[in-house]
Amino acid sequence: MIYIGCHLSVTDGYEAMGKTMSRFGGNTFAWFTRNPRGGRTKPVCPEDVEALLAHLKKENFGPLAAHGSYTMNLCSAKEETRENGLDMLSKDLERMEMVPGNYYNFHPGAHTGQGTETGIRQIADALNRVLRTDMRTTVLLETMAGKGTEIGGTFEELREIIDRVECPNKMGVCFDTCHTWDAGYDIVDDLDGVLQHFDDVIGLDRLKAVHFNDSKNERGSHKDRHEKLGRGELGMEAMKRIALHPKLEGLPFILETPNDDEGYMEEIRTVKNWMKSG
Ligand code: FE
Ligand code: FE
Ligand code: ZN
Repeated sequence: MIYIGCHLSVTDGYEAMGKTMSRFGGNTFAWFTRNPRGGRTKPVCPEDVEALLAHLKKENFGPLAAHGSYTMNLCSAKEETRENGLDMLSKDLERMEMVPGNYYNFHPGAHTGQGTETGIRQIADALNRVLRTDMRTTVLLETMAGKGTEIGGTFEELREIIDRVECPNKMGVCFDTCHTWDAGYDIVDDLDGVLQHFDDVIGLDRLKAVHFNDSKNERGSHKDRHEKLGRGELGMEAMKRIALHPKLEGLPFILETPNDDEGYMEEIRTVKNWMKSG
């Protein structure tokens, strides 16, 4: 069994997200800790979070996976952008403590011409400035498509970041199926091999969440364009094999497919049907 859900807007508060997801038929979700493009945040209301936590417990939700801002780049060549990213990261992690025991996922960053080595070092340095041993959140690095100067298009790069972090037990990885495919990993014809490679390089114990997306582009395109389940280059059979793979059992699967509410409900239904029959 896996947990299934999608991205939700935090505009109406935390409890509202839990209730919306139950209405959608899912049992996990993701949300942006702040406006994905801009950077502003609303204060968190403790009663609202309490109500969400009660709902999650009652409805047997799996772990949640918050998503950091796309504008956060911990390894930009511009110092101001890096400082700004560090500020977002530290405030986001502070806020995550109000929803303890969940995941905070972010895009490692783009080195914008500084080179991969420098980028990796800067990302790890930033993490080392904000991670605390008493934190109750696990921070996830997302597998990336390797677009432009993006870091995280290979499992090795993610492993190098984790290796440099002083609190590695606070670190995990979120496996984005569209990104991994676009990065060149053959999760259609060699899912077992890719997961074995992940295990060899990073360790499957660090795999904490899946972003469950089909891809508009061919393998290795480094494009990062998500598609609805079964409508893209991965195809429905491959998506089903991923959802039912024993090594991914128990993980939260978050849909980031281009859908409206109806579309998400439909995809959640599809995945739940696979679990019933599979
Ligand atoms: Fe992402
Ligand atoms: Fe993703
Ligand atoms: Zn993406």
